[in-house]
Amino acid sequence: MAAFGSVFMPEMALSQFENNAWSDAEIVSSDSIQLHPGAHVLHYSSTCFEGLKAFKHQDGSVHVFRMDQNVNRFDQSSQLLHLPQIDQTRVSDMILQILAKYIDDIPEPPGSMYIRPTHIGTEAAIGKAAAPSLSSMLYVLISPVGDYFAGGAKPLRILLDETGMRCAPHMGMIKSGGNYASALGPILKAKQQVQADQILFCPNGDVQETGAANFLLIDGNEIITKALDSSFLHGVTRSSILQIAADLGMRVSERDLTVTELLERAAKPNVEAALAGTAAVLTSVGTLIHNDKEYQVGTGELGPTTQKLRQALNDIQWGKAPDNHNWLTQVK
Ligand SMILES: *Cc1c(COP(=O)(O)O)cnc(C)c1O
Repeated sequence: MAAFGSVFMPEMALSQFENNAWSDAEIVSSDSIQLHPGAHVLHYSSTCFEGLKAFKHQDGSVHVFRMDQNVNRFDQSSQLLHLPQIDQTRVSDMILQILAKYIDDIPEPPGSMYIRPTHIGTEAAIGKAAAPSLSSMLYVLISPVGDYFAGGAKPLRILLDETGMRCAPHMGMIKSGGNYASALGPILKAKQQVQADQILFCPNGDVQETGAANFLLIDGNEIITKALDSSFLHGVTRSSILQIAADLGMRVSERDLTVTELLERAAKPNVEAALAGTAAVLTSVGTLIHNDKEYQVGTGELGPTTQKLRQALNDIQWGKAPDNHNWLTQVK
């Protein structure tokens, strides 16, 4: 099967900001865009994106999961990067418009349509290293995706890194391209040197997140994760899982977690660790690697609570459980 995110529908929704105004959204070919080689984004990384999904229900209807949260974060990223101000309603309409056009192509669960809104600075101005782009392009790409765990979900090996950082601390809550390039060097090194799947960035012992997912520790009936601050990405999956955990009667602790506490707790048999993000939902962490030592998390296997929480989230997304928090927007 094709790799996640490598297949695109032939068209996308696009709007451009020029002369202080957004153009009407158009449906255009998704094969290429035209960009000046001096475009601001190509030199000064004025770029942000979103990742969300639309799901097909048994009755054939299609629903976007937590679109308002993602569009709000897209707005926040655009503002923090000093890109032109987006209009949240118009972006939501673009998402619904392109999905409606390809409604027959939305995969059945466990597949979905992955949605990738993207906003880039297009002004041809290589002298603007310290000034914002006055023009921009915003498009919504869609990509049908299958079961992330088609090959079977196996617990991940994670390297704890206390010295490096994923990105500059004031960039953490912005979903922006440069942050992923920034984390790539350490991640590739960890893959090569200790066969880790991911790095969990823990600057000065503070457990933060991996390259593209939030970290959750489950200890019996308690779920522990770092409280929101500007240093890391505020995942929609993270907040949804915390809400579901609270609904199921679990104790939710949003607070700082140190590497020392994490390693102590990981040794207990009923402890689980998981990564949360839109692409893979919730993935179990089986092994933590720290200072050349390996620590098994709980049993080292896929945790039952992790599986229960993932299923509960999927059940809402797939229309098999009531949408009590109004997380779904139907595509008409
Ligand atoms: C996208 C992302 C997440 C997860 O966010 P979701 O909204 O749950 O998909 C977490 N961390 C980083 C760095 C991300 O880019």
